[in-house]
Amino acid sequence: MSKLHDSLPDAKGSYLLILFLPGSRTIQVGRLGPMVFDRGWYVYAGSAFGPGGLAARLGRHLQPLVKAHWHIDHLRTAAKVVAAWMAIGPPVREHDWAAALTEGPEAGTAVRGFGCSDCRCLSHLIHFTRRPGRILLRAKLGFDVVAAPLKEIVKQRPKTPHRAGSSTNV
Ligand SMILES: [Zn+2]
Repeated sequence: MSKLHDSLPDAKGSYLLILFLPGSRTIQVGRLGPMVFDRGWYVYAGSAFGPGGLAARLGRHLQPLVKAHWHIDHLRTAAKVVAAWMAIGPPVREHDWAAALTEGPEAGTAVRGFGCSDCRCLSHLIHFTRRPGRILLRAKLGFDVVAAPLKEIVKQRPKTPHRAGSSTNV
């Protein structure tokens, strides 16, 4: 864990967390109340422009959960973070990224109200039935990725309950 944390930059920037939920679940999400989450992959868009930058924020998202504070913490009680991406430096990209992921071909589905208590977005959490990889993210996030390449900093295989006969390879 500390090794991972050492690899994270102290710089400020924006990030995406990719989470995998192995089965449909109803999860209590703070004041939003109980919400139904379908099986699949979730992309959470955030930014870290406070003290400690990306290292502090992502370090927290990637460590075992102690106490749920943000909406994403509640999802993490059932879903595992399988990847994280980031772009260093301004501008704050999380809102544009969240919107872009719900537009065009292969768009994901916004989980209304999630992670956007402090902004006017529809959502900062987008559901995908297939794992959103580098190609899809680059296509959705467009020139922004070229201007400030997203860097995949963590890549872990999701732990699925059983592999036999699975048709969910990604
Ligand atoms: Zn927003």
